[in-house]
Amino acid sequence: MSLKCYFLIGYQMANGQLSRAEALACSGCRHACHVMLYSDTKSQLFGRIPIRHIILMQMRFDGMLGFPGGFVNQSQESLEAGLCRELEEEVGVALSISEDDHMDAQHAPGTSPSSPRLITHFYVKKLEEEQIREVEKASVSTATDHGQEVLGMVRVPLYTTKGGGGLSSFLSHTFIGNARSQLVNSLLRLHLVAPEDLRKALKHSLKMHARSAVDVQAVLELTEAEREQS
Ligand code: AMP
Ligand code: MN
Repeated sequence: MSLKCYFLIGYQMANGQLSRAEALACSGCRHACHVMLYSDTKSQLFGRIPIRHIILMQMRFDGMLGFPGGFVNQSQESLEAGLCRELEEEVGVALSISEDDHMDAQHAPGTSPSSPRLITHFYVKKLEEEQIREVEKASVSTATDHGQEVLGMVRVPLYTTKGGGGLSSFLSHTFIGNARSQLVNSLLRLHLVAPEDLRKALKHSLKMHARSAVDVQAVLELTEAEREQS
């Protein structure tokens, strides 16, 4: 076994992560697969802020942000075939995702002891910018899940604006399952954002989150006051 393999296995164990083979060895587990589709880009926001990479996520039916994908019917299809089927429904195009694109798998937190345990698999697939644009178009035209399970595809802003917004505000939203850590780990592993910029964005994100809590509290109080008056 290569040194790289030892390091990888050590890293996976430390993070509670499973390899594809370990995950498949779990009898009675359910499996869900999701993928991060991304590309490089030379385009700029306002003609001056480099966008650098286009990363696709989606606003889900439950109001949370997540990656495209879903449950796999393990008795009928491979993990990758199930993911491709889900992708066709959610983004409206057939994309070939292979075992080589598998990044990690984890037991989903908070599954009730009575229901079968869920393992979530995460894939990463780099496309050309043109293909990403096609996905974005298809997701509102040919995708059968548009307006139902998927409310819209979104791009992840990787830059930081003068006011501190951008990546930090994006990261302060609510994400499904471990989608936020899947995003952050990918940004680091694929060198899409410098570690120090990511650390700063996450610290600012905490502040934004706290500000949101105050904002929600104020709106709740207003709503209650209006209800009492009517
Ligand atoms: P879906 O059909 O896309 O809702 O996904 C199936 C299951 O996977 C759901 O129970 C979600 O809670 C979970 N899930 C969805 N997206 C992610 C994600 N990015 N990371 C981990 N789990 C997820
Ligand atoms: Mn889904």
